[in-house]
Amino acid sequence: MGSRALKQITIVGGGSAGWMTAIYLNKFFNARQPNYQIRVIESEDIGIIGVGEATVHSIRFFFAAMGLDEAEMLAETNATFKTGIMFRNWMKPVAGQMHQYFHPFDHLRIGTDLDISSSWLLDQRQQQERFDQGVSISAHLAAAGHGPKTPQCAPFQGVVPYGYHLDAMKMARYLRRKAVEAGVLHSVATVSAVETAGSQVLAVQTDQGRFGGDIFIDCTGFRGLLMEQLLPDNWQSFSDALPCNKAVAIQRELPGDGVPKPYTTATALTNGWVWEIDLVNRQGTGYVYDGNRLSREQAEQELRHYLGPESEVLKCTHLDMKVGCRQQFWVGNCIAVGLAGGFIEPLESTGLHLINLGVRLLSTHLSGAEPSQAVRDSYNRLMNGFYTDLKQFIVLHYCLTNRDDTEFWREAAHKAQFCPGLPQQLAAWRYKVCEYMDLAGTFSTTFTDENYRFILYGMQHYPQLQQLQQGPQHQALFMQAQQMAKHARLSTLPQQIYLQKLHAAAG
Ligand SMILES: Cc1cc2nc3c(=O)[nH]c(=O)nc-3n(C[C@H](O)[C@H](O)[C@H](O)COP(=O)(O)OP(=O)(O)OC[C@H]3O[C@@H](n4cnc5c(N)ncnc54)[C@H](O)[C@@H]3O)c2cc1C
Repeated sequence: MGSRALKQITIVGGGSAGWMTAIYLNKFFNARQPNYQIRVIESEDIGIIGVGEATVHSIRFFFAAMGLDEAEMLAETNATFKTGIMFRNWMKPVAGQMHQYFHPFDHLRIGTDLDISSSWLLDQRQQQERFDQGVSISAHLAAAGHGPKTPQCAPFQGVVPYGYHLDAMKMARYLRRKAVEAGVLHSVATVSAVETAGSQVLAVQTDQGRFGGDIFIDCTGFRGLLMEQLLPDNWQSFSDALPCNKAVAIQRELPGDGVPKPYTTATALTNGWVWEIDLVNRQGTGYVYDGNRLSREQAEQELRHYLGPESEVLKCTHLDMKVGCRQQFWVGNCIAVGLAGGFIEPLESTGLHLINLGVRLLSTHLSGAEPSQAVRDSYNRLMNGFYTDLKQFIVLHYCLTNRDDTEFWREAAHKAQFCPGLPQQLAAWRYKVCEYMDLAGTFSTTFTDENYRFILYGMQHYPQLQQLQQGPQHQALFMQAQQMAKHARLSTLPQQIYLQKLHAAAG
């Protein structure tokens, strides 16, 4: 059999987007026989964004599909487990207590006639517990500091779904090593010009020479270097719905007893919110805020005040955020993945998830003969759908607030109007449960009606279900749920112990 020239995929950018794309496409296209030569070009002078330290749970399956070894990845990135997000202060305090609710990755599916979340309402359990405490096991594991795994759990498996907290810089280095070991070509070079002809990228010119390619993937972060050259005015901003456009990130020593928590915390401040993400060796924090209302100095001061004077600050970074996405993610022979394609503020830790979606879809759309306009249109429609639906889900966290202490929060309460159909749905969800069919036909596969209910009820947006009867069967259901939570607590390890064992085994 004669040798044939391999088609070339040239990826510009060596952040998480570039390396995740390279590893996955290499696995997808070259595992049996080489089909594409894949190269990543990254600049030494222009660093990676270096934030992005929490994930959603489905990223596990992407990491597994990339062929990563979970224990090795955890050890090399100082990672911890994440079973959900604790939201604090998103509404006014109730009876002097700070408002809080948990958005876990799991939702119990027990019950016969009704699902457990409807039983929870009918049993009026909001008088004694939070919704997540009634219908999720992760809420109980998190409260006990337990991770999602028993000692017997296989890689990427737990008794509840889980994601990770990881060191973004270490992760990018780890992914690079894995990609290069798997045969991805790596060029350290800074792109100075992009050669185009019509809607095609022909090559990129760099300080190390010219690099051609059949397919170009723009992973250059917020710059969107290739896309901007190919098709300017291809950006749709979400700033009307999501005004937070800046962040100040502080890394510090783990506070308190130094034991990392198996969940992310998102605490609302005056003009945005703060993330707290615990790694094995430190905590990442950051204030995501509306830069039209707060200066950098004010934001940093507010964050430092929130963290407290005893905080041991290791590093402080200010970041600009471009919130929105491309109208067309795929133009000609160029596809934008990662921040180059779009960004939604990190309230639900979806950056790596959007890379996962973009790359998986790219692999199926690239599998045919020549990419046609129909294929490009399909990809663009799906990616647009993901971003638009995610925008709505993030807006949901804000628009139910009753906070009125700043203009930011007073305006936040009106943001549903920027999501077509959402105001009507919110009105309906005052009198009926948010159910699967309410979101049918959308692109929301990761955040379904189950996730919507955690946010709706967490924000006290309950439906009134007067016409249904309370019944003793609800009590039995919740006793069963408590038993399941207890069993999970007894079978899993405290996260700290699990990770200590893992690090000891990794040497
Ligand atoms: C404040 C904030 C918080 C976030 N939190 C989360 C989170 O909790 N969870 C999550 O999943 N995501 C989060 N994200 C998103 C996440 O950081 C990104 O999705 C992810 O890191 C991917 O970034 P990237 O690879 O697209 O871009 P970058 O990391 O910016 O990488 C860009 C790459 O392009 C290269 N490059 C640029 N210009 C050139 C050039 N001229 N020549 C050659 N190379 C070039 C750079 O060298 C770099 O390698 C957050 C983002 C922000 C801003």
